Amino acid sequence: MEGSMFCYQCQEASGNKGCTVSGRCGETTETANLQDRLVAELKAVALTLEGRTNVTREFSRFIVRAMSATLTDTNFNPDRIYALIDEAKRALKTLDSDVQAPDPSILSVKDPEERSYREILVYGVKGVCAFTFHALALGYEDNAIYNFIIKALSAAAKPETTLERLALLIVECGRIASIAMALLDEANTETYGSPTMTQIPCEVGSRPGILMSGQDLKDLEELLIQTEHAGIDVYTHGELLSAHTYPALRKFAHLRGNYGGSWWTQPQDFASFNGPIVVNSNCITPVQDAYRGRIFTTGMVGCKGVPHITHRHIGMQKDFSAVIELARTLPPPAPLDNAVLTAGFGHHQVCSVISQIARYVESGSIRRFIVIAGSDGRDPRREYYTGLVKALPADTVILTAGCAKYRFNKLDLGKINGIPRILDAGQSGDAYSIVRIVLELQNALGIRTLEKLPVSFVLSWYEQRDLAVFLSLLTLGFKNIRLGPAFPAFFAPSVVEVLTRDYGVKPIDTPEADAEAMMAGN
Ligand code: SF4
Repeated sequence: MEGSMFCYQCQEASGNKGCTVSGRCGETTETANLQDRLVAELKAVALTLEGRTNVTREFSRFIVRAMSATLTDTNFNPDRIYALIDEAKRALKTLDSDVQAPDPSILSVKDPEERSYREILVYGVKGVCAFTFHALALGYEDNAIYNFIIKALSAAAKPETTLERLALLIVECGRIASIAMALLDEANTETYGSPTMTQIPCEVGSRPGILMSGQDLKDLEELLIQTEHAGIDVYTHGELLSAHTYPALRKFAHLRGNYGGSWWTQPQDFASFNGPIVVNSNCITPVQDAYRGRIFTTGMVGCKGVPHITHRHIGMQKDFSAVIELARTLPPPAPLDNAVLTAGFGHHQVCSVISQIARYVESGSIRRFIVIAGSDGRDPRREYYTGLVKALPADTVILTAGCAKYRFNKLDLGKINGIPRILDAGQSGDAYSIVRIVLELQNALGIRTLEKLPVSFVLSWYEQRDLAVFLSLLTLGFKNIRLGPAFPAFFAPSVVEVLTRDYGVKPIDTPEADAEAMMAGN
């Protein structure tokens, strides 16, 4: 395939083949190619680090940070990507390495099947890096994750790495993704307390507000501290909804509520919010004039012309003063809706009543659990997830994590014996919580094999964190996962064959057909 760029890392890859001119995400040829160059330089750093035992964690931390900048919808600022490329080159110099970066073009790997294996591994690593980055912000890290990232990027860089070796590393990537999600869970819960069931209003207050979007809880905490007596309310957007469920964040009375929908509704949500917006991790959509003068980025997010709040210096908080000053001059947010969302169903909360839930299963009050994890997106086929939830019988419970839930979390599905039919465990990485819940349920029900559990999985994939979650579920032994709205463009036919044959992975069908099949245990 010819083109001045080539990217097929997300679900919105043009024609479900690949973006060759620009990306719907907002990627230009320049930034797409720069990101490929950055990944190539990081591969050179990984090749250098592989086998060295006397190096500090700083280099691994850098790889995690820089890979996070290449996630879909994260950084569209060429200057920032150039700076990361320079940092990679400086790292090579510091390491006294003469390793050359491989050809950055994805299409330099001519065989589509080999390209598929290599890119699945790289994208899985990106997902792992995203979870690791947020854990690291809270001071949590794990050498097992760092060592794997170095090993995987090195293998992806070496022309001699065989398909068999890549396949093994992809499986290992799933295992490491589980470790990364567990680490993030540990970081979040030890820092902010275990999430508990929380009612989160969507209506707005009368004071000026600041809207934070993304996944980083540390950024939100620092913003809350700095706005505590400022006469300003703080709202969450998208996946940051889960912040309301952590005791140490919920205690801030001015953490007012959740505003808008999932990431792709930013243009209308941000326009009507009126106040400043801070985007702290993926996803950011192309910035619109309606809010251009009041949007900020932080973390690895970047957008040309958008002011960036730089990293925190050691022992200090990030400086949100420019955002706070701007908020004081702007009107309060316009109301969008008056829904009240219920969330906070992480593993601590749900597992505390698991024997009661098991009894409801045994008595037939709850017939099946449907896990709908992953991300939302613009694709009209994602209406499927709303349709599926509506098509499920009233004796089903939906376990969800990630922003896919915005397709159904405002539906009133009622409760079963006091248990809400939608149990929202949190962000994409909180799929870990769902796994913990499912395994506890297996234990409580005394069911020996996962396949016999009354649980079905439907993944709504959009970007690389979703791929990491998918690989993690496969590695843990979950089978018959439905994947939508379509299989990734980077899945070669032979990959699809393996996933179908060995793991029972299947594409989504109609909501009604899938609801019926899942209720029959298929
Ligand atoms: Fe296209 Fe997705 Fe890549 Fe953006 S991230 S250029 S939309 S494939």
